Amino acid sequence: MIQPISDPSILEGYLTDASNLRGHADGLLRPRTTEEVAEIVRHCQRLAIPLTITAARTSTTGSPVPFGGLLLSTELLHEIGPITHDTATAGAGVILGQLQDAIEATGRFFPPDPTSRYDCTLGAAIACNASGARTFKYGPTRPWIDALEVVLPTGEILYVRKGDPIPSDWPIPTWSEPDVKTAAGYAPPQDLLDVFIGQEGTLGVVTRAVVRLTALPHDVIGLLAFFPDRATAIAMVSTLRDASRAAPDGGLSPRCIEYFDHQCLALARKRIEGVPDAAACALFCEQEVATADAQDGHLSAWWEALEAGGALASDTVIATDDTSRKQLHALRHAIPAGINEEVVRNGMPKLGTDLSVPDSALTTMMEAYDKAPIRHVLFGHIGNNHLHLNLLPKTPDELATAKAFYDDLSRLAISLGGSVSGEHGIGKAKVKQLGWMVGDATLAAFADLKRALDPHWILGRGTMIATPTA
Ligand SMILES: Cc1cc2nc3c(=O)[nH]c(=O)nc-3n(C[C@H](O)[C@H](O)[C@H](O)COP(=O)(O)OP(=O)(O)OC[C@H]3O[C@@H](n4cnc5c(N)ncnc54)[C@H](O)[C@@H]3O)c2cc1C
Repeated sequence: MIQPISDPSILEGYLTDASNLRGHADGLLRPRTTEEVAEIVRHCQRLAIPLTITAARTSTTGSPVPFGGLLLSTELLHEIGPITHDTATAGAGVILGQLQDAIEATGRFFPPDPTSRYDCTLGAAIACNASGARTFKYGPTRPWIDALEVVLPTGEILYVRKGDPIPSDWPIPTWSEPDVKTAAGYAPPQDLLDVFIGQEGTLGVVTRAVVRLTALPHDVIGLLAFFPDRATAIAMVSTLRDASRAAPDGGLSPRCIEYFDHQCLALARKRIEGVPDAAACALFCEQEVATADAQDGHLSAWWEALEAGGALASDTVIATDDTSRKQLHALRHAIPAGINEEVVRNGMPKLGTDLSVPDSALTTMMEAYDKAPIRHVLFGHIGNNHLHLNLLPKTPDELATAKAFYDDLSRLAISLGGSVSGEHGIGKAKVKQLGWMVGDATLAAFADLKRALDPHWILGRGTMIATPTA
């Protein structure tokens, strides 16, 4: 077996993630091949050594953070190819955005787009069933995976294709997932492939994937529409949803609908021009254009909808050329830049929610966000009723208040038929909240599956399900 690196100055960089949780490990392994991965996993299972899979550590939940044992990094599993008309094959450690660029250079398209796509890996996007803005049109990562090479927690190498049956002796949890965008718990699988998507590094190491491709749109129009009040913006979201459902490729068929609240607009106004004084909130949408001829039809459908829907139509930024694309880019990026500046100034971590609810509960959830007891900013994937409330504490007391408020919001989302994670997963940060959502019997069923595949519970200890003590 390759020797673990134990140099603390190297290990140091692998002990945390974007959640700021900090762990410890005895060594780091960077396998180059699936066989090396299998050998490491077999060794750890034989000796009951905890093994945490780490990729690019952009997780916001502590999922790749180790608490003892060894770390297995996927960073050297980074080959790309072949890319054909229908599929692309790549190693788990490939940076997702780089793979997408390589695919788009061939005129094809792999849609999953977590905001972190130029920082995170393909394998982790699969392991976390990552989503992004385009999930509104294309769904999460899961439907875009055709086959996986996986090393089971026993070290056995499996090549799994869509539709392969689940072995009859695997105790598969049966439970009802909420009917919302969700990345919480082991999804009830349709086939064997499903078992390894969204398992957060607890049921196997994904070493290689075959992803499904679709047509690259001829063009994409970006629109930033401002609204005089929130109710008008929410009504517009309903209009856009209804139009997309009725005609997924029609004139008004956004691939994403993103929301920015008045605090976001205030941050943007400090940095750039173009945010009207009368705007209380904004929606950012992208409209795919299949052919050059189709552009005018889309533009008139959008104008009509925005004017009829009460948007500040003449202030809408519509990006159809490089200058307007740059203006839109500057506007959208002024918001995270402003938030990050504030977080640094506060010297305290921000707390971001990841809750999703059904369409019918969007307004109730937004009213609950309004009650945040400390400074906050609200933005995100409103098309999927999945907004990120960013709580910005300035003191340890405010951080504690924010955490208690987050718990209240989680309970509310569950009571409304929602999920405690729309896309970031459970990791180590939301184990308690997952229990509230699925209940003890389902948690026990998750544990049964985990134990059946991973007898010594070596992979991803502490992630998603509490590790049994005995
Ligand atoms: C600024 C920012 C924006 C983000 N935006 C989004 C977003 O829009 N949508 C979204 O869904 N997420 C988002 N995330 C969260 C995060 O980027 C995703 O969860 C991403 O999939 C993690 O990828 P990673 O390579 O960094 O994996 P890591 O953080 O290193 O690992 C994440 C988990 O995956 C497991 N894992 C990693 N590789 C494998 C493998 N090959 N096989 C099995 N398990 C594996 C790890 O054990 C761990 O449990 C964002 C994070 C940040 C910091």
